[in-house]
Amino acid sequence: MQVSQFFDSQLLNKYNTSGPRYTSYPTALEFHDDFKHDDFVQAIKDSQNRELSLYVHIPFCHTLCYYCGCNKVITRHRDKADTYLEYLAQEIALQAPLFTDYKVKQLHWGGGTPSFLTHKQITTLVTLLKEKFEFSDDLEMSIEIDPREIEMDLAEHLFSLGFNRLSLGVQDLDRKVQEAINRVQSTQFIGDFIGHAKDVGFKSINIDLIYGLPHQTLENFAKTLDKAHEWDVDRISLFSYAHLPSRFAAQRKLRDEWLPNTQEKFALMKLAIETLCNYGYDFIGMDHFAKPKDELSIAQSDGTLHRNFQGYTTKGGCDLLGLGVSSISAIGNSFSQNIKELKAYYQAIETQQHAQVKGVSLSQDDIIRGEVIRELMCNLYLDKKHISKKYNIDFDEYFSEDLPLLDTFIEDGLVENNSDNIQVAQKARLLIRIICMSFDAYMKKHINQQRFSRVI
Ligand code: SF4
Repeated sequence: MQVSQFFDSQLLNKYNTSGPRYTSYPTALEFHDDFKHDDFVQAIKDSQNRELSLYVHIPFCHTLCYYCGCNKVITRHRDKADTYLEYLAQEIALQAPLFTDYKVKQLHWGGGTPSFLTHKQITTLVTLLKEKFEFSDDLEMSIEIDPREIEMDLAEHLFSLGFNRLSLGVQDLDRKVQEAINRVQSTQFIGDFIGHAKDVGFKSINIDLIYGLPHQTLENFAKTLDKAHEWDVDRISLFSYAHLPSRFAAQRKLRDEWLPNTQEKFALMKLAIETLCNYGYDFIGMDHFAKPKDELSIAQSDGTLHRNFQGYTTKGGCDLLGLGVSSISAIGNSFSQNIKELKAYYQAIETQQHAQVKGVSLSQDDIIRGEVIRELMCNLYLDKKHISKKYNIDFDEYFSEDLPLLDTFIEDGLVENNSDNIQVAQKARLLIRIICMSFDAYMKKHINQQRFSRVI
């Protein structure tokens, strides 16, 4: 695979602006508190879907990584997790009866750091979930792991409970970079853990990497990429570090002069794409890499790749129930979010018997635009005739105010707007979210706000 097909520095420079990552449309910025729990319950009743993806949020982390923009609670006290699990158990017990006719196809634990939990706490939570929900035999069960604070036997423990996918936060293996971001970890241990997890039986291992971190150079990042290849992981998520110190206080510890400039960041990203493609990974969506036989690669080739709050996924057909503080649900034609602050979450569970604090019921226009954006984000292709037929519209007429926004991309050879379809060129893959903004009806409201990260 030639990196040049994905990478045109001149065009990347031209369109390197801020934009949503479109894990949902409308984005979370449109959620509002007029959406009530009754609306959520109604959305379950109205949903045509009876397959469920469960997301469980564990907010705790031992130490603060200075680049972090996640919703997390830093603590070394594991008993804090006991209290959290008690409330989470209450939320599970309250929500599960609403989903008795659903089958769970996918369970994902994210954070924070789910591996902050002890073996006993992990067992308790898995047992409870299996007791309260009906799980499918072909369940995909995944967990995010911070390799700094775990023991080797965590792999056996997770596997014995049914987890079959692991995702490790690696980010960068260079010591100077790690010290700057306050995330020092052992390369040897990570490699050993990955090898051990494979021996135990895990069939899919993902690592997260970030480019654009302080002190990253082409030379030291190449070593990180080589290790990923040496470890022979199945998937790699490659994220751009979004430096937004006005929004995330911890990022103020990362001094501007330590950060690669835009051109250096481009070069780091180019290096990563080139190296991973040369090592035989397929480039998925705008920020994932997977081995050609991985389900993500297969889904991308056959046009069934989907996108939800966890990023690119193969489980597009499921409703999504988020459990725990700050988690997001996507049920039928609605999105909703739990309260973000821990104490308020506890109080809400106690007093309201749910923790949902905001959301949105999708209008027909949201649904149509959501599908258009998702198709383009996942497949770089849109069948206009299919959308017209499905929603009983004339695509070109319906989007008559939006389509002219594609003109600049068309002039630059990034997009073709044909009578039956819209095709996005491979070299626009990294810019896909900027192209999708053309179909976002809410964008005008946010155009001058620094609410989203830049493409690179
Ligand atoms: S990057 Fe992950 S481990 Fe680090 S503070 Fe953020 S959520 Fe916690």
